[in-house]
Amino acid sequence: MPPSQLTETVESTPTSIAPSQRESAERRPTPKPLTAGRRGGTEQGFLYFFVVAPFLAVLAMIPVAWGWGISWLDIGLFFGFFLVGGLGVTMGFHRHFTHGSFKAKRGLKIAMALAGSLSIEGKVITWVADHRRHHAFSDKEGDPHSPWRYGDTTKALLKGLYFAHTGWMFDREKTNKQRFTPDLLRDRDIVLVNSLFPIVMLISLLGPALIGGLVTMSWAGAASAFFWGGLVRIFFLHHVTWSVNSICHTIGERPFASRDKSSNFWPLAIPSFGESWHNSHHADPTAARHGTLKGQIDITARVIWFAEKLGWAYDVRWPSPTRTAAKMVTPEAGRTRAT
Ligand SMILES: [Zn+2]
Ligand SMILES: [Zn+2]
Repeated sequence: MPPSQLTETVESTPTSIAPSQRESAERRPTPKPLTAGRRGGTEQGFLYFFVVAPFLAVLAMIPVAWGWGISWLDIGLFFGFFLVGGLGVTMGFHRHFTHGSFKAKRGLKIAMALAGSLSIEGKVITWVADHRRHHAFSDKEGDPHSPWRYGDTTKALLKGLYFAHTGWMFDREKTNKQRFTPDLLRDRDIVLVNSLFPIVMLISLLGPALIGGLVTMSWAGAASAFFWGGLVRIFFLHHVTWSVNSICHTIGERPFASRDKSSNFWPLAIPSFGESWHNSHHADPTAARHGTLKGQIDITARVIWFAEKLGWAYDVRWPSPTRTAAKMVTPEAGRTRAT
């Protein structure tokens, strides 16, 4: 989309947020500014470290694997931390805190906020503020990470893909939390978890090393676990999440009517725990299940279902088949490619 079109249909009230949040947004006479404050040098430095260090670790992965091998313990730590951090983001940060697609008992709420923080994708309130802003302005001016930001020529789109994937995080302008997350700023539990982020980050980074060292009682075991369960796991989790921002607004199928370029990209369905059914999500943002069509695996929705059965989650907004069908465009349109 050329920049001249980017100012169209920008709205001030997010449509994808929880009802209580929407009501309070409607009461406000004038919208607050999109951004508030700038990231300091130290914070920016940490950000570079956590993006670049896991990336370098993956570059070193092959020779290291050749020399050291990888133990079953390393594999277990990789998947264990990937699962907990990943579900913390998809079920907690995204479906619960951003969109209110289900309510959670206090214990589950705190556990999800802590688990999501383990993924080192930023503090819970910052994550939610950015994502609510993304839905309010998706693929328009104001969207923090649209791949269409620079236009729709091949060159502009390649630049936009990089921006939507990684570049946007280095934008020093912070999303205005007073505007997008007043509900979370009022929640003392969440404010506390937010302030504990540096500690959770250290646990995420060093926890696998500690477990690896204690189980094997060796420094080599600790180093190997640090590498696979820490750095490589953070790398993969980051890039799966960021792919939803970049790939799932560019390539894939669009079976649902949506006012942006969100798409369903099936190859990422399992590693993203169902988040890559992104066109379906933008069409019905508060639904607890994103994989609404037949055969669309959605691991996060299944975990919410278990939590509901255990009584930890309630008032779950499962998508209704009639509502889903009403939002569908023609089957032919669903098969069209984005680019
Ligand atoms: Zn999106
Ligand atoms: Zn969303």
